[in-house]
Amino acid sequence: MNIIDKRSSLASSRSRSYTRRARSAIRNIAIHHSATTSGSAEAFARYHVNELGWPGIGYHYVIDKDGSISLCHDLEVVSYHVGNSNSFAVGICMVGDFRTQSLTDAQRQATLDLTRSLMDQLTIPIDNVWGHIEFPGYSWKPCPSISMQKFRSWLREEGANFSESPPPSPSYVAGARKRTILSRGDQGDDIKALQERLDEIGFHPGPIDGIFGPQTADAVMRFQRTASISVDGIVGPETREALRDYKPATEPIEHGSPTDEPDDREEMYRTETRRMLRLISPMMRGTDVQEVQGKIGSATDGIFGPETGARVREFQRSEGITEDGIVGPQTWRALDRIQQSRGGRYQRLLSVQTPYIRGEDVKLIQRALNVRVDGLYGPLTEQAVRKYQRREAIAVDGIVGSQTWRRLFN
Ligand SMILES: [Zn+2]
Repeated sequence: MNIIDKRSSLASSRSRSYTRRARSAIRNIAIHHSATTSGSAEAFARYHVNELGWPGIGYHYVIDKDGSISLCHDLEVVSYHVGNSNSFAVGICMVGDFRTQSLTDAQRQATLDLTRSLMDQLTIPIDNVWGHIEFPGYSWKPCPSISMQKFRSWLREEGANFSESPPPSPSYVAGARKRTILSRGDQGDDIKALQERLDEIGFHPGPIDGIFGPQTADAVMRFQRTASISVDGIVGPETREALRDYKPATEPIEHGSPTDEPDDREEMYRTETRRMLRLISPMMRGTDVQEVQGKIGSATDGIFGPETGARVREFQRSEGITEDGIVGPQTWRALDRIQQSRGGRYQRLLSVQTPYIRGEDVKLIQRALNVRVDGLYGPLTEQAVRKYQRREAIAVDGIVGSQTWRRLFN
């Protein structure tokens, strides 16, 4: 491996520096492409520091097309490249835009060699080598735009230095029965086919092992969300059909910047200490879940189930933020704004629920819209809200979010 140490020569901020961590905190290797047809560690460092105001370059390593490797940071440095996961990931960036270009042999070999050596040094298993897109919150990001399934199989094939136990063999016997509904816990060739399809269209399901585990469920839900069908993590007829017909967007997304990281939310991710809440199995529980439920008008049982997930999405839609059903830094901040404006002001998302949402805020709306004032958000109130939204030419959903509230009372 041809590694050039650039730790002290790259552009860095005079006033700010990245925090540090223990090596033992590192759990993942993150693979990026630069999303630029050319570039170098020097150019990315200048951009990250001078344009984005970061303490230094975002990546730990940059790999040029000729296979030369630039070392940019100590592994202990917590730099910016995968948002909320920065503190436990090492970032490797391959120069190139793999939406339109292909990896050179020298670059591929160097990236594999470096990744293997890091896996060895840090005791990181193959399944923890992830593409940027596979990190929480980044399913929308076309980075590194190569199949990570393939990348991991290259690591496995050519890795003579370590052994990897074979995946458990599926207990489902193909042809024994034809299942129309696939869900968590299922195993078999049909699950493997599902995982391959998900991987092919860019919703990476983790290891393709024929087992419908949490990562597969997560991939199914990400797909369902993107396909605008009901999000339940279960593959029934509707999802099956959508999977068959889905065409991944081939139009390259223009970043308009020299690297794949023009993410001004980095700072927000870095400073957010609250837990990320989302629908997983087993379901997340806690007072933080309860707090969120109280604000979005969901039953406050402290368990993040499908209903809470759906309410979170409604809330996100009404706030005009990324609609992913996940309470991450951006959603936490939007929820904080509700609290700040409490007291006669907008408090929570109002929609028709079972049982009906009840309260003084509902009465205020009913008075404003001239419907019977009973303090219950039922179908008649919803109808009046829709009519109002149509008249005001704002999104017609029958739900009072902050936008509709402000329009009504300001
Ligand atoms: Zn990236």
